[in-house]
Amino acid sequence: SQPTPSGRPAEIDPDKLDPDALKVIHRLLSHGHQAYFVGGCVRDLMLGRKPKDFDIATSAHPGEVRAIFRNCRLIGRRFRLAHIYFKGGKIIEVSTFRANPTELDASNGVTAADTGAENGEEEGSETEESQDLLITHDNVFGTAEQDARRRDFTMNGLFYDVAEGQVIDYVRGRRDIDERYIRTIGDPEIRMREDPVRILRAVRFAAKLGLDIESRTYAAMEGAVEDLPRCAPARLLEETFRLIRGGVAAPTLRLLAALDALKVLLPPVAAYFKENGRRGRDTFYAFAEALDRRVSTGEPLDDAILLAALLVPIAQTAPVVESQDPAERPSVAQSIEELLAEFVQSARLPRRIAERCRLLLIAQRTLTGERRRRTGAFRRHPLFNDALIVFEISVEATGQHREALEAWKRGELPPLKSAESATEGGE
Ligand code: ATP
Ligand code: MG
Repeated sequence: SQPTPSGRPAEIDPDKLDPDALKVIHRLLSHGHQAYFVGGCVRDLMLGRKPKDFDIATSAHPGEVRAIFRNCRLIGRRFRLAHIYFKGGKIIEVSTFRANPTELDASNGVTAADTGAENGEEEGSETEESQDLLITHDNVFGTAEQDARRRDFTMNGLFYDVAEGQVIDYVRGRRDIDERYIRTIGDPEIRMREDPVRILRAVRFAAKLGLDIESRTYAAMEGAVEDLPRCAPARLLEETFRLIRGGVAAPTLRLLAALDALKVLLPPVAAYFKENGRRGRDTFYAFAEALDRRVSTGEPLDDAILLAALLVPIAQTAPVVESQDPAERPSVAQSIEELLAEFVQSARLPRRIAERCRLLLIAQRTLTGERRRRTGAFRRHPLFNDALIVFEISVEATGQHREALEAWKRGELPPLKSAESATEGGE
């Protein structure tokens, strides 16, 4: 836990640092505050990767940051931080050093509420037991070292000190990066229990960065899966989308399945696996892999497309219904409706995304040629192009319907699949 002694070869090439973020740091320093690069950007640079964004941690309180920068807005209720705006829509995020609220004794730390920062988070039912580790508030300012220690994994707890040109390592993150391990900072049992969303983060980093999860950390993840339902659904949903947006849906969903976390995170996927066995699993992962390849091309795809591509195989299997009477069997449109309703309820999927996703899934039957619609209107529909992207991913995943895809791309109609399913009409 020593700062790099000078003389050690530079671990971070200063030329790789974002010039706007550097300006922010120098400005904070010139006002007498501490300010470091922190988190993902330090980790990525040490791993030789290009950082997605350059976050800054500072001793300055949010109000002080705002007073220094004109192009600044404070955001967040639970966790107040500053966004500094630059040309081209670039945002540099500046957060004040914080301590882990569960590790604090009353003697140190000033709460954000004490300093006038707003704390809009409903505290829920007060922590009745001291064993209840779940973090429900997160607004206690602290020192740089405390700020490093409250972070999730050692590789994410490093600072880069621009003035000294060195990495500051309070958490042995450098060792774990060298050895390519994901390890929680502190006791893995406690760190996973206090925020089970870290399970999702660990699998994302493992898949994305090609790192191993250290064995005690992994064991703690297994133990904390049962606590996932206690996390705010919005956070779970956001981290789940980050897996998919990151182009690592297939490997991370496999890891989450191995942890038995799918029944909590994506109940319809877990149910589909149970009902369809090995073949269902293979089909599902074929779609996830096709989606990951598409995401890796760098084309930005919105969340409804991502979710729809993942759900195509599930939407295709009509649920098993006892009734012999076809009228009592739910239609495909209905089962898609129910599938997405489940996401809206359990994951609080925003209705706007669910609705787009539903339309994209329903459109797949027209694209395959299973169902004929008034095609002029279908083509002109604002979602046609998005539906075609989902269809392309399906064709990639299964190898089926290539001719239909080519036909649509040529501006023609696909051959109808069968007379029986060629029913005209709306959903
Ligand atoms: P990415 O490159 O994917 O954005 P990141 O490490 O920057 O990865 P963020 O979610 O942007 O991840 O978070 C920034 C930093 O905040 C992390 O590096 C970590 O130090 C800290 N952090 C984020 N989420 C948590 C969490 N749930 N618990 C503790 N620390 C966290
Ligand atoms: Mg980040």
